[in-house]
Amino acid sequence: MNRTLMLQHLKANPDKLWDVIIIGGGATGLGAAVDAASRGFDTLLVEQSDFAKGTSSRSTKLVHGGVRYLAQGDLSLVFEALHERGLLLQNAPHLVRNQRFIIPTYEWWEGPFYNIGMKVYDLMAGKLGLGPSQEISKEETLSAIPNLDQRGLLGGVIYYDGQFDDSRLAINLAQTAIEHGATVINYVRAVGFSKDAKYLLNGVQLLEVESNERFLAKGKTIVNAAGVFVGDIEAMDTEKPEQSVILSRGVHIVLDRSFLQGDSAIMIPHTTDGRVLFAVPWHDRTIIGTTDTAVEDPSLEPRASDEEIDFLLKSSAAYLRKDPKRDDVLSVFAGLRPLAVSNGTSMSTKDIPRKHQISVSRSGLITITGGKWTIYRKMAEDAIDKAILVGGLDEHECVTKHLPIHGYRRNNDFEEPLYYYGADKTQIEEMVLFPNPELRRQLHPSFPYIEAEVAWAVRHEMARTVEDFLARRVRALFLDARASMEMAPGVARIMAQELHRDSHWMQDQIERFKELAMGYLPPRRVTDG
Ligand SMILES: Cc1cc2nc3c(=O)[nH]c(=O)nc-3n(C[C@H](O)[C@H](O)[C@H](O)COP(=O)(O)OP(=O)(O)OC[C@H]3O[C@@H](n4cnc5c(N)ncnc54)[C@H](O)[C@@H]3O)c2cc1C
Repeated sequence: MNRTLMLQHLKANPDKLWDVIIIGGGATGLGAAVDAASRGFDTLLVEQSDFAKGTSSRSTKLVHGGVRYLAQGDLSLVFEALHERGLLLQNAPHLVRNQRFIIPTYEWWEGPFYNIGMKVYDLMAGKLGLGPSQEISKEETLSAIPNLDQRGLLGGVIYYDGQFDDSRLAINLAQTAIEHGATVINYVRAVGFSKDAKYLLNGVQLLEVESNERFLAKGKTIVNAAGVFVGDIEAMDTEKPEQSVILSRGVHIVLDRSFLQGDSAIMIPHTTDGRVLFAVPWHDRTIIGTTDTAVEDPSLEPRASDEEIDFLLKSSAAYLRKDPKRDDVLSVFAGLRPLAVSNGTSMSTKDIPRKHQISVSRSGLITITGGKWTIYRKMAEDAIDKAILVGGLDEHECVTKHLPIHGYRRNNDFEEPLYYYGADKTQIEEMVLFPNPELRRQLHPSFPYIEAEVAWAVRHEMARTVEDFLARRVRALFLDARASMEMAPGVARIMAQELHRDSHWMQDQIERFKELAMGYLPPRRVTDG
């Protein structure tokens, strides 16, 4: 996964006609690149920023059927997602794990009610189920989640879903696509299209962000997988595109592990605003989320509002014995959901179905939007099936159902340091042997991350900035924003060596990262003192 080579290949072949050009390096675009390349198509993917910089690093980290969609009666979505959950667990067992969830019950009817619901969930998962749900007593519930507030607690219902590391999976998908022959590049933005005499798309104008260089890539088909920016891409194609997405912001707060002891996650099916609330253990911290707030404009760095942070603190305090306060928040991150709609809708964002949608413009632009991380593979299959039709490409069957994803390692021990590299772990361990023992140094006392990971990320995972490393190659920014700021100088030093950059670059990187990370801390109020 060498960016310089990828870029050279792209620029050295200006007349190359790609079968598929994909715009956007989030879950949807990267999935499409894996699908297209593994079917044997000449595939190019460009990402304007870093892979998963947008929504795909800001999820709740669940590979799930969606209990909420079951409650909404959206059975086809749940069925599809449960199937995909099972496939992803098989194809990326180094990153996706089986997570036990407990729904605490406080009314007499809730135990039997949720138990029946979760049995239906199990049945729908069929052979790809992760474990049988069951109703448990108050004592069993408290033994699984010792710091659950026991006031009014009657018992609980256990069920199982998947949990993963979203941006690590994105990097592994990029690697998988490249291994199947795709050209995949970050920091290259699509800035326009070229069309033939019949006004059909035949190329994408690209801007290499680091050098400001522009060039054209010619393609038989073009897939718009730009997430919340799909409308901007459609606007480059046609003057008045129909509205294809509505945006909704979801916020998570991250707390110390002591707020959620034990290995189980909590699922609250109905908060005061009618949403589902999760408290999930992740990388030795606790993630609590999420919210659902309609927003107008797309952004790569959305920010949580004060109300959203208060809502999450208040809602979690209702269930946890130890009430979290603003000062306990280690990090707060927001993401924008690109919800697929046709011609606008009057529905509230939380009620818009999460099904994906594919449209084709008159000039042949294939836009894919909506969906979930969990079903990225199916979305990709549908998008590339459409590309075959639109571009008259040779018929090749999709092969991703049982395609191992880069890093694939069976029986991964999620307690081991470096486990999230899967099969690559041994190579990182070898890096710290003679002659580079200093690479074994820990980057920060609060995290297990070592210096070798920085060098690895530059050499093999296309990390270009301190943020790329601290936010998406490892998850420090999302797990503890203050600690991540303290790590920035050390990371900048190693990256500067690897990328042959000078001290100005280092200083600039450290300052930019610190400014960014400040936005991951809850804003202080005058009353905070
Ligand atoms: C708060 C929240 C929680 C969620 N939790 C879950 C969950 O637990 N499980 C689950 O399955 N799903 C979850 N989702 C949904 C899931 O995260 C999204 O469906 C998925 O990440 C969307 O991926 P995407 O590739 O479509 O968009 P993105 O990840 O946003 O990717 C689009 C990319 O396109 C790039 N781009 C835009 N314009 C250009 C251009 N001109 N040139 C080049 N590149 C461009 C952007 O930089 C961006 O990286 C959650 C979503 C949110 C918001």
